[in-house]
Amino acid sequence: MSESGPERVIIFDTTLRDGEQSPGASMNLPQKLQMARALRDLGVDVIEAGFAAASPGDFEAIRAIAREVHGPTICSLSRCNQGDIEASHQALKDAPRRRIHVFLATSPIHRDFKLKMAKEEIVCRAVDGVRLARERCDDVEFSTEDAARTELEFLAEVVERAIEAGATTLNIPDTVGYALPQTYAETLAYLKKHVRGIDRVVMSVHCHNDLGLAVANSLAGVMVGARQVECTVNGIGERAGNASLEEIVMALKTRSEVFKLSTGVRTERLYPTSRLLAQVTGMHVQRNKAVVGQNAFAHEAGIHQHGMLTHRETYEIMRPEEVGFAKSQLVLGKHSGRHALKERLVALGYALSDAQVDKVFQDFKVLADKKKDIYDADIEALVVHGQILGKGNVAWELEALSTTSGTGTMPCASIALRGADGNRIQEVAAGDGPVDACFKAIEKITGMTVKLRDYQIASVSKGEDAQGEVSIEVEHRTGVYRARALSTDIIEGSARAFLDVMNRIALKGPQTKPDLRMEPTP
Ligand SMILES: [Zn+2]
Repeated sequence: MSESGPERVIIFDTTLRDGEQSPGASMNLPQKLQMARALRDLGVDVIEAGFAAASPGDFEAIRAIAREVHGPTICSLSRCNQGDIEASHQALKDAPRRRIHVFLATSPIHRDFKLKMAKEEIVCRAVDGVRLARERCDDVEFSTEDAARTELEFLAEVVERAIEAGATTLNIPDTVGYALPQTYAETLAYLKKHVRGIDRVVMSVHCHNDLGLAVANSLAGVMVGARQVECTVNGIGERAGNASLEEIVMALKTRSEVFKLSTGVRTERLYPTSRLLAQVTGMHVQRNKAVVGQNAFAHEAGIHQHGMLTHRETYEIMRPEEVGFAKSQLVLGKHSGRHALKERLVALGYALSDAQVDKVFQDFKVLADKKKDIYDADIEALVVHGQILGKGNVAWELEALSTTSGTGTMPCASIALRGADGNRIQEVAAGDGPVDACFKAIEKITGMTVKLRDYQIASVSKGEDAQGEVSIEVEHRTGVYRARALSTDIIEGSARAFLDVMNRIALKGPQTKPDLRMEPTP
C-alpha cells in the first residue's frame, strides 16, 4: 500500500491459466511468453502462469515465464496435495517473486459428488496443503473453490484455518458464476466480520461470467473490502469466461470517486494487450465489447457526431487514448523501412528481439510486394503466423500447389509436400471444390484421415487485396485439433491451415487438453 494516494487493488491476471483452459484458447510456449511480457508491460501485479502439475507443457511454460518475466509475482496453481505443490515450487524456483496458489472445493455439491469428503477432511486437507506450500514459499494463496455455494459458517471455518496455517491471500471464488452482486458482497462481508485474522491477509475475488455478472460481482466484492481481483484479458475463461481485466480496471478508474482505489495498470496498454491475445489465440473480441471492442467508443459509431464535436463528454465517459486505441490506423507500405515497422510492433504490444524483428521485416517485404497498404492487423498476423510465435518442428512442408476449378469441370488439386526426411511426395486428388481437393491430396500424402468440424475464412484487414485468415478445426481419433493460416490466396491459406493440423497430429501435440481436466479448477 502506498503511503499517500488511494489504496491499491492487486490485479491478479489468470489469462494464462484459467483463460487458457477455455476451448480454443490454448497457446504454445512462445505465445505464452509473449503474453506474459505484455502483461508485465501492462502493469499487472500477479501473473498466474499455469497449473504446473496439469501437463509438462504447463510446467515448462511456468518455468520459462518465471525465468524471463520479471516484475510481477509469478504464480502457479496446485491442488492440495504434495505432488502438485512440489511441481509448482519447482516450476517457480527461478522467479524473483513467486506465489503458490492452492485450492480445494468447499461447497456441499463438490464435497459430496466430486471429492467425496466430509467437512472435517476438507479442513484437514486445506490446512495441510497451505502449510506445505508455506514451507516452500512465503507468498501462499488459498482458494475455496465454489465458495459462493458454500455454507457461510463452514466457509468461515475453512478460511480461518487456512489463515492460521499461513495463507497470505484468501480467494473466495464464484467458480460456477452463480452469485449475484449483493449475495456475493454479503458472503465477503460475513467473512470480514467473523473470521479471525482476516485483516492480516488480502481478501481476493474470482468470478465467472455464467450470468454475465463476473465484473459486477468482483466490484461488489471490492466494495466490501476485497483488495485483489482475479481476472483475464478480454474476459476469456472456461464456459462464459472470467471477469474481464479491462472492464475491472476501467470501472475502478472511471468511477474512482466511488471506489477511491487505484491499480498499477497502465491503461493505455489495455487495447494493445487485448489485440495481442485475440491474435495469438484466434478468439476475436466482439465489436460491442466494453472498453476494447471496435464499437466501444462513440466516435467510431458516427451517429453522435454532432454532440461529439461540440463536447466529447456528451457520449464518452472514457477517452479512447486512455485505453490505448490508436488515434489513426497507421498504414505502412512497400517503401516503409525496418525502423517504421519496429515502432509499429512496439506500439502494438510486441516485445521482440532484433533478430525477431528482422524476420518479421523479411515477411513484411514479401507481403508488401503483394499488397499495397499494410495495416496493423496485417503486421499482427505476420508475427502470429510467422516463425516468431508460430509453429516449431514440422513433419511436412508445402512445396507446390496448383488447383483447377470452374463451371462444368471437376475440381482438382495437385500438391507436393516435403517430409522431414527430405523426401518429396506429390499427389493429385479431386473434390467437391478446390479446397476439398487440396485437403484430400494432403490426406493421401500424409496417410492420415480427419473429419473437418469447422472451416472459416475472414479478412484480416481492409482492401480488395486483403489477406485471408483461414481457421479450421478437425477431428482425429487422437483428439480435436485447430489451426489457422494466412495468405492473400484463400486456397493456399486453406491448404496451409490443413497441413498445419496434420503436422500437429503427426507430432502428437493435441490442441485440446483432456489431461488438464483431471478435475475442475476455481
Ligand atoms: Zn476460475
